[in-house]
Amino acid sequence: MVATATAPTIRVVSPATGGLLAEVPDEGEAGVERAVAAARGAAPPWGARPYGERAEALKRWRDAILDDPEAACTLVEESGKPRHEAIGIEILYLCELIRFTIRAARRALREESRHPLLFLTKKTRLVRRPLGVVGVIGPWNFPILNNAADCVAPLLAGNAVVLKPSELTPLISLRLAELWRRAGNPADVFQVVTGRGATGAALVDRVDGVMFTGSVDTGRKVAARAAARLIPCVTELGGKSPFVVLASADLDRAAEACVWSSFMHSGQACIRTERIYVVEGVAERFENLLAERIRSLRQHVPNPGGDEACDLGAVTFPRQIEVVERHLADAQSKGARVAAGGRRRTELEGNFFEPTLLVGATQEMAVMREETFGPLVAVMRVRDAEEALRLANDSHLGLNATVFGAPDEAMSLARRLDSGQVILNDVLVNYLVVEAPLGGWKQSGLGVRHGIEGVRQWTRIQAITVRRPLLAPVERLIAKLLAFPYDPRVLAVVSRALRLLYRRGLAEKFRAPH
Ligand code: NAD
Repeated sequence: MVATATAPTIRVVSPATGGLLAEVPDEGEAGVERAVAAARGAAPPWGARPYGERAEALKRWRDAILDDPEAACTLVEESGKPRHEAIGIEILYLCELIRFTIRAARRALREESRHPLLFLTKKTRLVRRPLGVVGVIGPWNFPILNNAADCVAPLLAGNAVVLKPSELTPLISLRLAELWRRAGNPADVFQVVTGRGATGAALVDRVDGVMFTGSVDTGRKVAARAAARLIPCVTELGGKSPFVVLASADLDRAAEACVWSSFMHSGQACIRTERIYVVEGVAERFENLLAERIRSLRQHVPNPGGDEACDLGAVTFPRQIEVVERHLADAQSKGARVAAGGRRRTELEGNFFEPTLLVGATQEMAVMREETFGPLVAVMRVRDAEEALRLANDSHLGLNATVFGAPDEAMSLARRLDSGQVILNDVLVNYLVVEAPLGGWKQSGLGVRHGIEGVRQWTRIQAITVRRPLLAPVERLIAKLLAFPYDPRVLAVVSRALRLLYRRGLAEKFRAPH
């Protein structure tokens, strides 16, 4: 997209080469206003369509993405990630999410009846209706997975969606919106508005529900703004995921998994391994295995066409290299040692930092406490599983955790970890288990994506209570007991009935015909 004459622009730059990829408008309030107005017009007919038609629209979109020769290239170019991750993680995830959500939403949106016990003359229908227009605000690290993919559940629930992607990586979202239209789907039902933070804030001020993924600081602002308007707001925020290695772990497998989970997309993943706790007895061997594997990683400018093997590409946001350098310097000044990597790749044009391993870390170091979100990870040795647990829980964040060890031992630790997600003897793929709700504890956010829960939150529940015609005489009797005109003799009956039903427990002996 080229900037309009009126809007200020944002330069989208390749993190791997430094070259200009495109300029997009910073649409601000006016752009948001336009998009939300169009979405308001489009939402009712979209929500009124038979569910199967909405599902077909999502399938057509998925097919258009899979057939598109440009989508993966655009994603590689603007994010700096290897093509393997663009297709093998982001596009794969989107397809799997659409598959699951189509089935889950059909179930989630189905009307239900509730049959009361006391007011047995009534029956309540639970109807789930869309919120209207949902605003999705996304980060730069997963330009599909945490942006367009988060539109799937609100769309299937019958809402129109306006997506505000990160200003660093807006191009794939624009491409996906174009593919949505090309697939024959109504343009105003899924729109993308480009811009910086103020554009995101303007969106929060106008929509009926917000799905936000990003940093804790911004998440807090977005949640406060949404709270002021009393609209639902899901926040998926930062992580400081611990990786615990017990003495009973398969060390080779643990090291292999740990390296992938620490350096996938150069460490810029919310559920990545951010800190490692390994028990003393196996620590030296584990550290050596990690260092060896890290040194063998292939890091270079990823080819958007993808004809060469590349494990690590560029760091998308240059600020993350500054965070890595700060955490590295702080840790070294407190006694940690670099066991692999350790320097910025200044010989390359783009943002590259070697995948780096620190050993000898301690809990007070910034690298063990603040989100690093870059190609640096640190190992701390611990006495035993109990110490690992205590340190793993010693964080203001609680998004994800990994435990490697004998299944029973790992499970018993998992049940005591303060974390929304825990994965045992594997890494990261729990994000792809779209059947399970995924959300952070503590300051890692509020609410979830995925699962049936991730669909229902984009609806308003309406309870419509109706009479059961055959029980009309009983209904009249209940009306006499409860409603005007109030009568002291009736009140005496109600009081006695109350004691009989609840004090004596008669009501508990019956079951509602649910
Ligand atoms: P960020 O908070 O800086 O920005 C996220 C989005 O919010 C961007 O689109 C930005 O333009 C917008 N924004 C900024 N200010 C705003 C405001 N006042 N009102 C509304 N929108 C505003 O985050 P980031 O640097 O893009 O992303 C990195 C962070 O995201 C990391 O902390 C990472 O852990 C987190 N993250 C979390 C998850 C998860 O599922 N929990 C997934 C991916 C990333």
